[in-house]
Amino acid sequence: MTEKLELYDVTIIGGGPAGLYAAFYSGMRDMKTKLIEAKEELGGRTLIYPEKMIWDVGGVTPIRCSQLTRQMIEQAYTFEPTIVLGQQITGLERLEDGTMLLTAESGEQHLSKTLILALGHGVLKLAKLDISGAERYEVTNLYYTVEELESFRGKQVLISGGGDSAVDWANELVSIAASVTVVHRRERFGGHERSVRRMKESSVQVRTPYAVTQLHGRGDRIEAVSIAQINADGEPMHESEQIAVDAVLINHGLRGDFGPVVTWGLEKKDWNFKADEKLATNLPGIFVAGDAANYGSKLHLLAGAFTDAALAVNSAKHYLDPEAPQRAQVSSHNAKFTEKNKAFDAVEEGEGEA
Ligand SMILES: Cc1cc2nc3c(=O)[nH]c(=O)nc-3n(C[C@H](O)[C@H](O)[C@H](O)COP(=O)(O)OP(=O)(O)OC[C@H]3O[C@@H](n4cnc5c(N)ncnc54)[C@H](O)[C@@H]3O)c2cc1C
Repeated sequence: MTEKLELYDVTIIGGGPAGLYAAFYSGMRDMKTKLIEAKEELGGRTLIYPEKMIWDVGGVTPIRCSQLTRQMIEQAYTFEPTIVLGQQITGLERLEDGTMLLTAESGEQHLSKTLILALGHGVLKLAKLDISGAERYEVTNLYYTVEELESFRGKQVLISGGGDSAVDWANELVSIAASVTVVHRRERFGGHERSVRRMKESSVQVRTPYAVTQLHGRGDRIEAVSIAQINADGEPMHESEQIAVDAVLINHGLRGDFGPVVTWGLEKKDWNFKADEKLATNLPGIFVAGDAANYGSKLHLLAGAFTDAALAVNSAKHYLDPEAPQRAQVSSHNAKFTEKNKAFDAVEEGEGEA
């Protein structure tokens, strides 16, 4: 089975900023590279805030995050690594010769000499309502996203959440539903100021700081919801009250999940993976980069993700070839870019002539 699999020098798991930069930098180090991303899209957490302006990446003047994501992806493709989308890596087996056999949740397998875990906070999934048994209502009137606004027409809708999604859906649904109640754990909403104001000025009933404490159903349908005012610790302060509902929409944001990777024997520190100053984990040939890494001076920023990525690639290169130089030759003097630079020179010459 593994005979048919192509063997890579390095496989990067995770296609966020750390993984994308590692894919570029490993090309500078002549490593046969594969990058595997669980989602169908590259970009990692930058996909959560595409509209935001980014100011704090060195040498990059203010840039819309969606544009920065596009540029990171373009850079990752520079040396034509193999990029696999839509596969969450769950299994790791070390073969007799030390190579690592990775298995995706969907069953596909990959073979690699080294690994760079650029997992961020894990695979982001919609945070579910933390009430036992709530999942049985998901087939009927407990929603985590709105697929069709019309299905809420004339209904009494309760929305739980206080971010952009909760506020935007409240504003969308208020003219369609019979009533919209928004329950949020904090006084302040995280959504855009203008949208929050619009919601508060509309007929949406806003209850803060409140939380959903119980669902009351008949069969597989929710008929009413108990909500209670909560204190700073999230504990109910008074008796709860019941609100009749036809639909409940939960917008509690996203939660990262490392999945079975945590069973691989990697040493953890707090919520992520312990690394040394060379980004090595406790397992041979396995390195970590970006938000998933935990070491003393870790910087949970894009700038930190890029630095980690280069360090992890250098360590992977050294693991394979202890005689290899400590780092890649700088790009300004690197012959790898000679041909590519000619294209830029030609454009500049053309501009000079015009
Ligand atoms: C709202 C918000 C605003 C921010 N603003 C800024 C800012 O202005 N400036 C700044 O510098 N930083 C900012 N950050 C932080 C920055 O986005 C992160 O530091 C950066 O995204 C970390 O990159 P990463 O590659 O380590 O992880 P991530 O971006 O989280 O990417 C990890 C990727 O790994 C994938 N993955 C995980 N597990 C698996 C698996 N088992 N198999 C396959 N794929 C897997 C995930 O799907 C994900 O795509 C912000 C973060 C947030 C949430």
